[in-house]
Amino acid sequence: MILYKNKTDLIAKINSLKKEGKSIGFVPTMGALHQGHLSLIKASLQQNDITICSIFVNPTQFNDANDFNKYPITIENDILQLTEAGANLLFLPNIDEIYPEGKPTEQYNLGNLETIWEGQFRPGHFQGVCQVVQRLFNIVQPDKAYFGQKDYQQCMVIKTLVHLLQLSIQIVIHPTVREASGLALSSRNLRLKDDDKKRAVALYDALTFIKQNRAKTNLDECKEKAQQMIVDAGFEKIDYIAICDAETLQPLQTENSAKPKVALVAAYISCVRLIDNMLL
Ligand code: AMP
Repeated sequence: MILYKNKTDLIAKINSLKKEGKSIGFVPTMGALHQGHLSLIKASLQQNDITICSIFVNPTQFNDANDFNKYPITIENDILQLTEAGANLLFLPNIDEIYPEGKPTEQYNLGNLETIWEGQFRPGHFQGVCQVVQRLFNIVQPDKAYFGQKDYQQCMVIKTLVHLLQLSIQIVIHPTVREASGLALSSRNLRLKDDDKKRAVALYDALTFIKQNRAKTNLDECKEKAQQMIVDAGFEKIDYIAICDAETLQPLQTENSAKPKVALVAAYISCVRLIDNMLL
């Protein structure tokens, strides 16, 4: 694997690969890599000639300075894992490489994705995601880019961005990778003690409860019981738990629609904010 810190060198390399007719798969990450990230790398390796991973903890998508400061950094281990997985290129820029002009000012019309669920509880988060992903896409010019369903609303934001910018990049969404317990893998899990991780499985259990019981009870009742499971496990705060139309993210009041549905949850355990979701 070749490591690039400098975008000019990376762009030169990508241009020469493109001249050779190579297809490019891209996996943007914030590092602290785990099997969820590696599943995206593996998918890209299978579907493209060249797989590029980026690791950049993007400050503009953090609405909470504490979350940014405590974001886990495990770069040596990340490089080891990427090398073992067979990734071809790693882009590891510093902040000036991505934002040479200083704090970015672009704003994107994301419609209700901006204000609903994650948008409501993390103001500015998705603008920050778009700012960095647009820059990374401009540098890497991938044919396909890989994202995890773990960040369900983010996947919708990325598709909106590609549409807004009229980019010819195929967005590939990969299923959430979980521990055997059901807990969704997340870099932020590194901040949890073993006991927290055991209790955090309640998010998965609550989503599973909704999936299994939504047809039997009314949706509000089902949601309340799921919420109680999360509270009982010791989560100190639930930002939201929602049963939504999987395509619009509008909350659903009744079960009797044929539309695809998704349950979304975000909650804090031991001051760590975790999110998860499940297609119903
Ligand atoms: P992050 O490093 O958290 O920004 O994540 C980088 C990419 O990995 C995003 O597209 C995430 O959705 C994806 N990802 C994170 N966790 C998982 C997981 N457990 N399973 C699959 N993809 C994931």
